[in-house]
Amino acid sequence: MHAEVISIGDEIISGQILDTNCQWLAQRLEEMGIRVLYHSGVGDELEAMVGVFRLAIDRADVIVTTGGLGPTADDLTRQALAQATGRKLVLDAGALEQIRALFARRKREMPQRNESQALFPEGSRVVPNPNGTAPGIDLEIPRPGRASCRFFALPGVPAEMKEMWLGTVVHELRKAGAGRQVIRHRRIKCFGVGESQMEAMLPDLVRRGREPRVGINASQATIIFRITASGPTEEAALAAMEPTVETIRKCLGNLVFGEEDDELQDAVVRLLRQRKQTLATVEWGTAGLLADWLGAAAGNDPCYRGGLVLGDEATVQKVLGVSPPDVSTMAEACRKRFGADYGLCAGPFPALDPPPAEPKPFHYALASPSGVAVQAVPFAAHPALLKVLCAKHVLNLARLAMLS
Ligand code: ATP
Repeated sequence: MHAEVISIGDEIISGQILDTNCQWLAQRLEEMGIRVLYHSGVGDELEAMVGVFRLAIDRADVIVTTGGLGPTADDLTRQALAQATGRKLVLDAGALEQIRALFARRKREMPQRNESQALFPEGSRVVPNPNGTAPGIDLEIPRPGRASCRFFALPGVPAEMKEMWLGTVVHELRKAGAGRQVIRHRRIKCFGVGESQMEAMLPDLVRRGREPRVGINASQATIIFRITASGPTEEAALAAMEPTVETIRKCLGNLVFGEEDDELQDAVVRLLRQRKQTLATVEWGTAGLLADWLGAAAGNDPCYRGGLVLGDEATVQKVLGVSPPDVSTMAEACRKRFGADYGLCAGPFPALDPPPAEPKPFHYALASPSGVAVQAVPFAAHPALLKVLCAKHVLNLARLAMLS
C-alpha cells in the first residue's frame, strides 16, 4: 500500500509558510506501515489541482490532502476532487447542520458562503471536524482492474488536521487493513571519510528492492545510514534491521560513532565517562563551537573541565603562556592548566586572503599523558560549513584516541 501526501495552497507553494502538515502526515502513515512514495504540492488553481489529483489517484493507494477546504473562492479542493473523479458535488445535510451548530456555539451568524463547506463529491463520507468549520472528505475511488484508491481531504490548519487524522482517518485506514505492518527507522551515524568512500566499504546495501531498505545521506560531513524495515510489530521491524546494522558496524568499525540523535560530542562525553577521564579544550579558529557542544553534551558532568575561546595570537600567548603558539604546545598547556587528562586544541584558521592555489591545512591537536598527537585537514569547504567541519574533525581526534 503506497501513499501520497498533497499540500494545497498558494502559501505553501510560494514558500510563505513551511509545509509541516506533509511531514507530520508522512510520519503517521509510515508508522502504520503505509509507505509514502510521493509528496506533492499544488497552488490554488483548479486545473492544476485536478491534474495533481488524477495523477495521485493513478499512482497511490492512499491519498491525504491538506488545505483548500475553506469557504472562500480560492478554496477549491472539493471542486477539484469532484472534477478529477467525474462526480457531482452534493450537499450533505448532516455536515451543514454541524457547521451551523459550530457558528451557533460561537454565537455568530453563519455566512451564506460557508454552506459550500457542506458540499461533497457524490459518494463521499464526511470526516468530522470538531473544532473547525471545514469538514473533511473521505472518498473511495474505484480504479478499473485494480484495488480502489482511498482519498482523504483534510483542512490546512494543523491542529484541526491532526485532530481529524487521530479521530477518524487512522481508524478508517485500520478498518481498510492498514496498520497490520509497522515501519520503523534507525539511523547509524559515521564520521571520518566521505559518503562514497564509506559506501564502497560496504556490500551493496543501498540497492533498490533490498529489505530492509538502506539510504545514505551526508549532513555537515556526518554520514548517516538510514535503515527502514517493516514487520507485524515494532519488535519484529527492529529485529529485521539488526543484521544490517551489524554489517554496517562491522565494515565501518570506528567510523561509526553513534545512532539516532547522537553527535560526535555525545560520543566523546560517553567515552570520557566510561573511562572516568576528563577533557579541556582551547579554540582559536572554531569560535567556541567545541565548548558549546561539549558543554551541552556533558551538562554538569565534570568530565568536561571547560574551554578557552581565544581570538588572536597575542591573547593565546598571554593566556596560555606559549610562544610561539602552535597547536601542539597549546593542547599541552590547556591540559595542564585545566588539570585534565586530555587537552584538545583547535588551531587558527589559515589565512584565505589572498586565496591560496591549494587548500591550506587546518591544524588541531590532542595532548594526553602519553604525548601529543597533531593532525591536519585541508581547509576547504563552503565557508558556512568550515567551522562546523573543523570542530567535528577535532572532536573525532579525541574520540579515536580514546578508542585506540
Ligand atoms: P480553513 O477553512 O480552516 O482555513 P483550509 O482547508 O482552507 O482550512 P487553508 O486555508 O489552506 O486551509 O490553510 C489554513 C492555514 O493553515 C494556513 O494559513 C496555514 O497557516 C495553515 N496551513 C495550511 N497548510 C499547511 C501546511 N501544509 N503545513 C502547515 N500549515 C499549513
